[in-house]
Amino acid sequence: MRGQKEPLYRRVNTRTHGVHHGGGEARWARNTKATKTSEAVRGSMHPGHRHGLDYTPLYRFLLSKVGQDWDAVHAEAVARLDRPDPIFEMVALRKEDEQDYIRCGESSYFSGLRVNAANQLEKVAPDLTVDDMMPFCACCTHTFNGERFTRRFEGD
Ligand SMILES: [Zn+2]
Repeated sequence: MRGQKEPLYRRVNTRTHGVHHGGGEARWARNTKATKTSEAVRGSMHPGHRHGLDYTPLYRFLLSKVGQDWDAVHAEAVARLDRPDPIFEMVALRKEDEQDYIRCGESSYFSGLRVNAANQLEKVAPDLTVDDMMPFCACCTHTFNGERFTRRFEGD
């Protein structure tokens, strides 16, 4: 291990405090049938999402590797993780697993990624920007790829 090979996760003492949200989800402003489907899927995908590790550094790392060779990116990520599973919360290897964006923690979102025919990492929805994202409450600071949402919560 040389320098710069820090782990791609952080240990955190989190208690889930999202109860007041009633399981709300941010909405993509251009709400389509496709988004609804992926939201339904996602709702059941993270049943026990509190293992005390925060993979935000991994998601930032993967995002920074868009356009690069997947095998190399994957090998480096695995070497810097406790287990490989979190990689595949962001990177879809099968069409049916592709997501426009993924949720990380309570109010952080990142682009969903996939591997293209040239074996390079790419965004599933490259046109999706922070300006498209709708917060699901007024009390939290929502971010997309590390940027704060520009839209305000509009209420229910
Ligand atoms: Zn909130």
